[in-house]
Formats: sequence, structure tokens, C-alpha cells
Amino acid sequence: MNFSLTEEHQMIRDAARDFAQTELLPGVIERDEKQLFPSEQIKKLGQLGFLGMMVDPKYGGAGMDTISYVLAMEELSKVDASTSVVVSVNNSLVCWGLEKYGTEEQKQKYLVPLAQGQIIGAFCLSEPEAGSDATSQKTTAVDMGDHYLLNGTKNWITNGNSASVYLVIAQTDPEKGHRGINALIVEKGMPGFEVGLKENKLGIRGSDTHSLLFTDVKVPKENRIGEEGFGFKFAMKTLSGGRIGIAAQALGIASQALGIASGAYELSLEYSKQRKAFGKAIHEHQAVAFKLADMATKIEAARLLVMKAAWLKDQGQNYDKASAMAKLYASEVAMEATVEAVQIHGGYGFVKEYHVERLMRDAKITQIYEGTSEIQRIVIARAVLDEASAIA
Ligand SMILES: Cc1cc2nc3c(=O)[nH]c(=O)nc-3n(C[C@H](O)[C@H](O)[C@H](O)COP(=O)(O)OP(=O)(O)OC[C@H]3O[C@@H](n4cnc5c(N)ncnc54)[C@H](O)[C@@H]3O)c2cc1C
Repeated sequence: MNFSLTEEHQMIRDAARDFAQTELLPGVIERDEKQLFPSEQIKKLGQLGFLGMMVDPKYGGAGMDTISYVLAMEELSKVDASTSVVVSVNNSLVCWGLEKYGTEEQKQKYLVPLAQGQIIGAFCLSEPEAGSDATSQKTTAVDMGDHYLLNGTKNWITNGNSASVYLVIAQTDPEKGHRGINALIVEKGMPGFEVGLKENKLGIRGSDTHSLLFTDVKVPKENRIGEEGFGFKFAMKTLSGGRIGIAAQALGIASQALGIASGAYELSLEYSKQRKAFGKAIHEHQAVAFKLADMATKIEAARLLVMKAAWLKDQGQNYDKASAMAKLYASEVAMEATVEAVQIHGGYGFVKEYHVERLMRDAKITQIYEGTSEIQRIVIARAVLDEASAIA
């Protein structure tokens, strides 16, 4: 067992850290306040290879492993989770599935520009009445011979307006239940496809979250991913890997809030050394020191879970339980650490200049998207019970 990072991993982490400090930190408060999408920053991340990190170089990617990806996600998320969610969706929810299950033509046409960061993608599973219960898809993709006729509404879609390529999950054969669901590649501009309302959100306000409307959109048969009826499995497999990225996002938010990151601005740990109350630095009050100790321990535990899930994926082993555990734990730690960070900052924690109130708002989404904490517990419980019955 080896807990140290390779030189290459350290270089990737440092490059992401530098980018976060020089390109993301300036303007992060304004982008949050005004809900501005980080277009310039995303363009630069694409040029640096951060949007197709794990994609094979022959398809325009950087050919890195999952450990590299989580290190980059953690560093970017320390400073700007609105930007890191775009990185996460493009890498894990769009590029990964296209590379693993797409045809050669689909890879050439869509994966290459996505991995090179020329365009970005979106993953469209959720609907007004299908969130956690993703099998109850109301969007239909009726088989018309050479194409599918797509009708319905998707909700909460990250990159909803800024994407050019959308992976859309829809029901083709309701009698077959989830085995009648397909995953289709939809292009912005296809007649009948409209981008709906932009959500006004609590956190990750710089990311653009939209509803999408499909009215008689003709999607060519060659845009289906995998075999007929593979769409639900495609979505579940994709989300299992996606959760590793969100777990790393949560880890970044948590460690930055506490100040164990090497951030350029002072957060809880630094703040507790400088702020004085009753004649001493506040960390000399044991109640504050214990908060720091407890959170540092939990963050370290979350980091080990995230790294283990990434490592299992890189080894080609099953990571469904590990990714659910990493996301469940890291997101709960992110919420706890950011609430404590605001508390440690006192009144200053409640105002925007000190960043921790934004981290607290951003942390909440990590417990909701790509499967809520309750859904992660269902995944983990099922896996544990399966393991138990396999032994019995
Ligand atoms: C900012 C943002 C970005 C998003 N981006 C995307 C995206 O890019 N693509 C996409 O497809 N979706 C996206 N989503 C949707 C997100 O994945 C869903 O919101 C999430 O899966 C929960 O679904 P829901 O909102 O319908 O809540 P519901 O499923 O209605 O859940 C409501 C509550 O009930 C609980 N619950 C439900 N079922 C159970 C159960 N069986 N046992 C115990 N508790 C249960 C849930 O945990 C939750 O607490 C995004 C959402 C947000 C807010």
C-alpha cells in the first residue's frame, strides 16, 4: 500500500491549484452573485486538457487516470465549485460514457471536440417527476424506423444553455420498464429542441442549470448510445463514476472551508490563529480547536474514501459501492465543515468577502445531485447485502 502521490499526480494537482488561484479566484464572488457562467475560465481549462482528462489522446483527451481527475477536481473546487461542476459533468457524465459505450463515428463526431474542450456537454436524466426515481421517465423516444421522435421535458440540467451536445435519457418501450429506455445524443439546434428556464439557485450559482424542452425532435438512429434499451444502465454506470468527481468536489469545498488547503486567502485555520477573543487567539479556546481537530479528521477520512474509489476505477475493479460511500461521506463532511467554518468566522463568516458563506451554500448541492445522500445509502445497503449473501 502506498499513500504518496506520484510526481505526475503532484504536477497535475499543482497545475490545477495554480489555475484556481490565478484564474478562478478573481471574480468568484461576482460570478456567484450575478450568476455568471465562467465562459472564459472554461475555455482555458479546455485548452489545458482539463475537460477530457481521462479520455484517450487518440480522441483528443489527456489520457490521465481517475486519481489525476480527482486531484484536479479537489483543487478547482476549493476555489470555485461553479466551475468545477462543469469540469465534472463534461469529464465524467459526458466524455466517459461516450468513450466507453459510443460508436467510432460518435466518438469522432462528438467525443473529440468535447475532450478537446471546443464544446461542452450535458447529461440529461432528471425530469419534473423523475429525480431519485429515474426509472419513471416521462420523456419519450418513439422508434420511427430511421430515427426516434423525442418529446418531453428535462429538469435541472447542468450546462443546460452552454452545452452543444446533450446525452438525453428517454423511454422508448414503456412495457419493458427500465429495459425500454434509451440514451440519445441530441445536438443544440436540432428542430424542436428548446432550452427552458434558468434556475435561480442557492449555490453553484455560476453554473447554468436549465430545463430543456423537446417537441417532436427527430434524433437519428445512429445517435443512440449502445444497444436498444441500454439507456438506463448507461445512466446508472455513468453516474457511478460521476459520483467520484462530486465526492472530490465536496472534499475540495470542505478542506478549503477549514483552511487545510493551501489557499491564498485565509479561511478557518488561519482565521482562528489571527482572530483574538478574551485575550488569546480563538484556536486557543479548546471549543474552537476541537472543531478544527474533528473536521480535519473527517476530511482525511473522506479523502481516503475518494482516493480508494478513484483507485478501484483505475484498476478496472467494481467501484459502485466505493463511489457511493465516497460521495455520501464527503458531501456530509463538506456540509458540516462549511457550517463550522462560518461559525468559526463569527459575523465575518456571514458576509461574502470571507468566502465561507459561499462554500456553505455550494456544499449543499453535493448532497443532492448525482443521487441524494438517501439514494447513496440505498446503493451502499444493496451492495453490502449482496456481499453478505454471496458469502452465505
Ligand atoms: C443544481 C443542480 C444541478 C443538477 N444537474 C443535473 C444534471 O446535469 N443532469 C440531471 O439529469 N440532473 C441534474 N440534477 C438533478 C438532481 O440529480 C436531482 O435533483 C436529484 O437526483 C434528486 O431528485 P429530485 O430533485 O427529483 O428529488 P426527489 O427524488 O423528489 O427527492 C426528494 C427527497 O426524497 C428523498 N427520497 C426519494 N426517494 C427516496 C427513497 N427511495 N428513500 C429515501 N429517500 C428518498 C430524496 O433523497 C430527497 O431528499 C441537478 C439538480 C440540481 C439542483
